[in-house]
Amino acid sequence: MATWLVTGGAGFIGGNFVLRAVADGIRIINLDALTYAGNLDTLSSLAGNANHLFVHGDIGDRARVASLLAEHRPDAVLNFAAESHVDRSIDGPGAFIQTNVVGTLGLLEAVRDHWRSLRETEKHGFRFLHVSTDEVYGSLGDTGKFTETTPYAPNSPYSASKAASDHLVRAFHHTYGLPTLTTHCSNNYGPYHFPEKLIPLIIQRALAGEPLPVYGDGRNVRDWLFVADHCEAIRSILERGRIGETYNVGGNAERQNMEVVETICRLLDERRPRHDGKPRSNQITFVADRPGHDRRYAMDASKLRDELGWEPRYTFEQGIAETVDWYLGNQEWVARVLDGSYRLERIGMTA
Ligand code: NAD
Repeated sequence: MATWLVTGGAGFIGGNFVLRAVADGIRIINLDALTYAGNLDTLSSLAGNANHLFVHGDIGDRARVASLLAEHRPDAVLNFAAESHVDRSIDGPGAFIQTNVVGTLGLLEAVRDHWRSLRETEKHGFRFLHVSTDEVYGSLGDTGKFTETTPYAPNSPYSASKAASDHLVRAFHHTYGLPTLTTHCSNNYGPYHFPEKLIPLIIQRALAGEPLPVYGDGRNVRDWLFVADHCEAIRSILERGRIGETYNVGGNAERQNMEVVETICRLLDERRPRHDGKPRSNQITFVADRPGHDRRYAMDASKLRDELGWEPRYTFEQGIAETVDWYLGNQEWVARVLDGSYRLERIGMTA
């Protein structure tokens, strides 16, 4: 049975990834600092499961990571942990440098030292997979797509901190030989997404009858990737990706923000009509644009398709309908995440 050390596994993507991996019989050591974005509620179905060990800790705590590695001897380390919200990075970049850059460096040093101590056969099979973003490539005009060779041009403190961590991962491969893989994914959406990000925020506000804030003219374009597809892509890359390589992961689903918001309104109107019968698109209000807001991101994920045969299974229409249904059926999760009640709870998995 494989054992993987996952960081940030109480967050949105990491949480989805852990739930799937444990269901597939993989043993997961889940290291998460439980910031505002980490929710043990997401993992409640794993309570009592011997294949999941939750550890409350920081990726930058080198001694802690070293002892976890020595004790559990994982076959791979997957780094999802990060400060991840662009708006928060504009208000306070320091936390982003601390976790995404300094923290990732501490993690890499602990992993490198552990990897060096392994027997040759173990060394050969070991992998360090780093989850990064399309935002490191900067912004596109109306045409073109990011490839793995697009030069880095990060525009926000968030993307700059992710770019720095990518460079450290690259350097640890080239300098020390650590067997690394780096993934660049586009905007994820799906179940367990913290309700400050666009899609869950709009769902919640639409249900509450509140104004639906859309930045600028609403024409910024993102490529939307359903989180289940992303988790499968990571598995393919971890298991079959070429060491030292980077892989783009995209959803083939470019949409303007306005299209996304209007789609959510329509789905909610069909499923849960407003009491006054009016369309929820009436709630849309334009607000001042985010400073430095990148206009368009688009991913060329053909390397991943051609080398490893991965393609997204979900269309945007399927994924967004499933997401809206999930939020409608899981309002208790949303309420608990928002009031923070999950944070102080132990669910029998904390080391
Ligand atoms: P998230 O904010 O939902 O979750 C991050 C998790 O990391 C949380 O559980 C948090 O508690 C944990 N964490 C934060 N600092 C930590 C630290 N110092 N030590 C240990 N744990 C810590 O983020 P997400 O949306 O799940 O994103 C996961 C990864 O994917 C991130 O690296 C992010 O940059 C990348 N990414 C996300 C998206 C997206 O659309 N969500 C797109 C591209 C890339």
